Amino acid sequence: MPAPLVPPPGVTLVDHPLVRVKLTQLRDGETSSREFRARLAEVATLMVFEVTRSLPTIPRAVHTPLAPFAGETLARPIIVAPILRAGLGMVEGMLRLLPEVSVAHIGMFRNEETHRPESYYFKAPPHLAEADVILVDPMLATGWSATAAIAQLKERGARSIRFACLVSCPEGITQVRSTHADVEIFTAAIDPELDSRAYIVPGLGDAGDRYFGTIGSGVPSEPR
Ligand code: URA
Repeated sequence: MPAPLVPPPGVTLVDHPLVRVKLTQLRDGETSSREFRARLAEVATLMVFEVTRSLPTIPRAVHTPLAPFAGETLARPIIVAPILRAGLGMVEGMLRLLPEVSVAHIGMFRNEETHRPESYYFKAPPHLAEADVILVDPMLATGWSATAAIAQLKERGARSIRFACLVSCPEGITQVRSTHADVEIFTAAIDPELDSRAYIVPGLGDAGDRYFGTIGSGVPSEPR
């Protein structure tokens, strides 16, 4: 098994046997959309533990059946923000551990002439400035979509943003971190490179197509 690339500063590699095993199933081109959806949700659930590790808490006093207890509660509300469409695949899994959170939606499509993302939809709850935002997209490839999504969140007031993805690559990490050094990245794998069509190699193919079953095998066949 090749050694994973060492995560640079600001990047947490969520390295756990269950995550590696489930990610292998996601990478397998034979995995059906049904299985892909289930595994993606499970990995997203497992990643919540690391993504939320540094969230601040405040005191919360409760009474157990036996005695008072000086406990904790999260200091701020959480907003999960998927980049459409593949990011939707990570929401269900995250909400299993974070059932109370709000969900923002960030729609981006790729301009085929400029190859840059263009926004077609943005909807977030009004308390962005007071929240810890978890931006999610399974694939951090060129990093342009994530960079643009983070900029949109900041323009609307977000001050605490984490980015969670399944598979990343050095180019995408550099793009996000050089533009938004305050945004920590959480990834289950750092793959070596992008191909000429900006797919991560070895990656897992087109995450959105595989999740939604919009192409047979999930192997990208057309230029994007
Ligand atoms: N988006 C995907 O779905 N897969 C990649 O490899 C790159 C971007």
